[in-house]
Amino acid sequence: MRFLLPLLLLPLLVHAQPTPVPDAPQAVLVIHGGAGTIRRDLLDDATEAAIRAALTTALQTGYAEIQRGASALDAVTTTITVLEDSPHFNAGRGAVFTADGYAELDASIMDGATGEAGAVSGVRHVKNPILLAQKVMTGSPHVLLSGEGAEEFALLSGLEFVPNQYFHTDARREALDRVLQRQREQQRSEQGAAPEQAVPEWQLEHPNPWQMTGTVGAVALDQTGNLAAGTSTGGMTAKRYGRIGDSPIIGAGTYADATVGVSSTGHGEYFIRNVTAFDIAARMRYLDEPLTDAADAVIHETLTASGGTGGVITLGADGTVAMPFNTPGMYRGYIDAEGNVTVQIYSDE
Ligand code: ASP
Repeated sequence: MRFLLPLLLLPLLVHAQPTPVPDAPQAVLVIHGGAGTIRRDLLDDATEAAIRAALTTALQTGYAEIQRGASALDAVTTTITVLEDSPHFNAGRGAVFTADGYAELDASIMDGATGEAGAVSGVRHVKNPILLAQKVMTGSPHVLLSGEGAEEFALLSGLEFVPNQYFHTDARREALDRVLQRQREQQRSEQGAAPEQAVPEWQLEHPNPWQMTGTVGAVALDQTGNLAAGTSTGGMTAKRYGRIGDSPIIGAGTYADATVGVSSTGHGEYFIRNVTAFDIAARMRYLDEPLTDAADAVIHETLTASGGTGGVITLGADGTVAMPFNTPGMYRGYIDAEGNVTVQIYSDE
């Protein structure tokens, strides 16, 4: 008995004393609003201020949920709903256009406590796709629903519908026009024809941030110590043929288990091929790597070596935050247990 008692108490002691990682920020909620060519010289002051304000509001809204004792899952959906309703991000209102001129939305969510997940792709009329992803998880035996079927399920679930025009903004329309023009010029030059209209040099060099960025994501840690993660997007400007990116793919765009939650943003095809979100959790589980090392390796080594661009937000069950990205900027932020907000955009912040 003298030897048995300490042994029996060991799991309790280990559980009660998570090892905080020195220097890594601590949080209960982490968000992103997309990664890409976000540079000071390409973002005007008013837009930058509006984006910082929207990220702050989303963090504070989700934080209030967590403080009320809501689950990490509900905090994630509430937070992402705020970002979907803002025209500044490529999710919900403000989503990019397909080549045919529609907004076509993808979203996913995962509960780290249960390992359950839900996702939707290609929906055109559901006001908040993240709420539909949550319904798929909680109210259906499936994980991923697409297109008309997903909308039929949304109707049965009583979710709010909007006309596709609700999602449209002038900035995204201009971005579509520019991408289509560039594609036409590329085709003409491949055929040896003279350019119809020259694409300005700066546009080739620095695609407008509106064109590339704005996917949103959140990872929350609730008062019971559970994690959840979610992601929502309009995908890529001028996408065709029902293209689906990483955002609704569990393991690529979103992942959560008992130790870590991840939401990705960037060039989706690379995140799918690299199974980016799961790879971070796998490195922690199988290699015993700390969260910050695992997240850095997956973005700065694996993703970068494969030619992919983008980033992730990650939150550990001990509150550790890591938000690596390999693009000039990523809209991102976190809020700690005391309600202190940090919002960052550029890589030197
Ligand atoms: N990952 C998204 C997609 O490929 C886009 C983004 O995050 O900017 O659909």
